[in-house]
Order: sequence, then structure tokens, then C-alpha cells
Amino acid sequence: MRLSKTFVKTLRDAPKDETAKNGSLLIRAGFIHKEMAGIYDYLPLGLRVIENIKSVIREELNKIGCEEILMTALQNPEPWEKTGRFSNQEVDIWFKTELSSGGILGLAPTHEEPITSLMKSYISSYKDLPLYVYQFQNKFRNELRAKSGILRGREFLMKDLYSFHTSKEDLDEFYHQVELAYNRIFERMGLGDSTFETFASGGIFSKYSHEFQTFLPVGEDTVYYNNDKSVVLNKEVFNEDVLKDLGVENEKFEEATAAEVGNIFKLQFKYSEPLGLKYIDEENQQQIVYMGCYGIGVSRLMGVIAEKFADEKGLVWPETVAPFKYYLIGIGENGIKEAEKFYQGREDITLLDDRDKRPGEKFADSELLGIPFRVVISDKTLANNEVEITERKTGQSWRVKLAELFEKF
Ligand code: ATP
Ligand code: MG
Repeated sequence: MRLSKTFVKTLRDAPKDETAKNGSLLIRAGFIHKEMAGIYDYLPLGLRVIENIKSVIREELNKIGCEEILMTALQNPEPWEKTGRFSNQEVDIWFKTELSSGGILGLAPTHEEPITSLMKSYISSYKDLPLYVYQFQNKFRNELRAKSGILRGREFLMKDLYSFHTSKEDLDEFYHQVELAYNRIFERMGLGDSTFETFASGGIFSKYSHEFQTFLPVGEDTVYYNNDKSVVLNKEVFNEDVLKDLGVENEKFEEATAAEVGNIFKLQFKYSEPLGLKYIDEENQQQIVYMGCYGIGVSRLMGVIAEKFADEKGLVWPETVAPFKYYLIGIGENGIKEAEKFYQGREDITLLDDRDKRPGEKFADSELLGIPFRVVISDKTLANNEVEITERKTGQSWRVKLAELFEKF
């Protein structure tokens, strides 16, 4: 991508109407645009980050046998009425709208009801099970407070996975596969050391659910962790009984703030029973389908990564999610010529700063945008047949031979 050709511009000053660091930096760097509180647009660079996060998630879910679908955001009230969740008293974050032909529609805050309902068309026998489907889908939630940038959107991108089983054991086994997949996903995004599977409340069918909490000063959740962080609990379940149940009543716990980047839930019959999702077993008996659901906040993850790794100069993206690998600057006649050469064939991993700006401004923007490696080819370095590489994360610079750059990068 050529910076001279994109409509996006970086901003010198922090936007006044954005208090969250992630939102402020992402707006300044041209990754997102703010429409109003909790409502954002994703611009070319921001969209690339989102797509990279999606790719990692998609790879790990496909590995454990999940199939991708895309459901509609528009919600027929019917299945929601069957579970009691269409009422504003029960679910207080609905956006609802009207059909011009009469009747009301909801904008999906999540998809348990419609997916359970959809599966009635496809599941009838034990031979149809198990199955696992997921989607990347914009959810709508009329959040009361939306002051955390893209950590809490009124429209946000979620990955939601739903699993369907004939037995509790099969659900347990798949649930464990998802735990492992989630650990790999957060690890690959550079959040392995700071993201912990956390005990949370389980509802009527399950003792606990699990959240994946990334320790973060501006996170909205409070968690408690033991000495080696092998047991982490959400504040909502942090009590004597639960500690005893987990066998850690004598350990010392400390408090931390964290952002929930994902959660997993053994739903069992919570939705399949009221919605009548059943199958015929080997003995020709009708049984209720066991279900699980598993979310990841894709856009929140982007905000968490932005917030967590940023420094005083700007964003710092881990390579797996960075919009580009190289931020390329050519200085001087030959420097520009060589930079153009390097850019050829590497357009998809290189952001070429070919704008008519002073090198100082380009250097500052390379830091604000947080691209992992800055490559500077200037007449000065070319005098020794060299180019300068700077790693954004560490600020370390080194030189490599021009030929080596073309061969190895
Ligand atoms: P929270 O406790 O943060 O309100 P939740 O428990 O309601 O979230 P789920 O309904 O389980 O969340 O959604 C799955 C995932 O979607 C969450 O783990 C979180 O990462 C993300 N998420 C939830 N609400 C938002 C939001 N308003 N903006 C961005 N991401 C969100
Ligand atoms: Mg939660």
C-alpha cells in the first residue's frame, strides 16, 4: 500500500471526544473513524488488523473441525420470545426496529436463539451430530456506557461459535478442544503471557463458565489470581465456597483489572429445550441436543492489543496482526529508486511512505502506526550499500546490505 494513494491521514493531535487510549491512538493513526460514542468505522489499516485477527481465529477453529457460516443480524422475535429473551426487562441492550409492513425486528446482540432455531432444519438424527459452526458477525448492543473506545462498541465484531452434541461427555471433550484453541489464538497474537482462563458464573446448567481475561489497567472486569496465576476468578464468583470447591481456599489472591476477550459456556439444554432442538438416538428415542457457545470479541481484541502494547510514540503491533510488516521510506534520489524496487512484489506486506513529506514526519508516523519494522533506504546508507532496519517494539536499529534486504526480506 502506498501512503500517497490512500485517503487516510494521520492526525497530529488526539481527538477531543475520545478519552480511551486505544480509541484515541487508533483514530490518530488512521485505523478507525468515530461516528459517535461506541460506534466506529474501520479504515483500510484497521480493516487489515481485523482481517488478520480473523485469520488466526479461523485457522485455529478450522483445525478443530469447525465450519464457518454467516447469519443475518436481523432478528425475528419468535425464537427469542420462546426463551424469554426478547423482553427489554430480560435483555436490556436490545436495538429494535420496525418492519414497514408491520411488526418488530431485533438487531442481534448475540445468536444463540437463531442458530438453535436454524439447526432444527439440519439436525434430526444422532448421525447428524456432533457439529460445530461459527461466524464473524457484527453484533448490536445498546450499551449504556461506551467510553472505552473499541473495547466496548454499540456495534462490534464478534466471533461466535456454537456446538451441538448427543452427550455431556462429547460436549465436555469439545469444550476442552476450544480451550486449547483459544490459548493458541491468544498466544499467536502476543497475548499469551497476559491472558488467563478465568472462572466465571455458569448459569443454571453449568457450575462455571470460563472467560479469557487479558490483564489490562483499563479493563472493565475485576479478577482475582493466586500466586502463580494457575487459578484466576472473576469477581462475581470470588467467594469462600468457590475457593473451597476449587481447592484453593488457603492460597493468597490478588486483585487485577482485565478485559474479557472471550468466553466459553456449556449451555447444555438452555436453548435447545425451549426451542425444541431434538434428535433421534440409536434406540429410536427422541433426545434434546446438548449445546455449547464460545465467543471472542474480535474488535475488542484489536483494542486490547492496541492499548496493551502502545508506548509514548504510538501503536506497536505484534507481527501476526500488524497491517503490514514493513514501513518503507526512501530518502534521496537513489534511496527512493531502491525503495520503489523493494516495494515491487511486496505490496501486500509493505507500507510505502512515498508522500511528499519531510523524513522526520515519516519517521514519526512510522512510530505512530506501529508497523513492526521500518526500512529506511537513503542515499547516505546506500553509500555503503546498506539500508537501515528499525524494530518498532524495541527501537533497535541495525544495518543490512542492500542485496541481503532483497534476498531475505
Ligand atoms: P461484557 O461482560 O464485556 O459485557 P459479555 O459477557 O456480555 O461481555 P458475550 O455476550 O459473551 O460478552 O460476548 C462475547 C465476547 O464479545 C466477549 O467476551 C467480549 O470479548 C466481546 N464483547 C461483548 N460485548 C462487547 C462490546 N460491547 N464491544 C466489544 N466487544 C464486546
Ligand atoms: Mg462478561
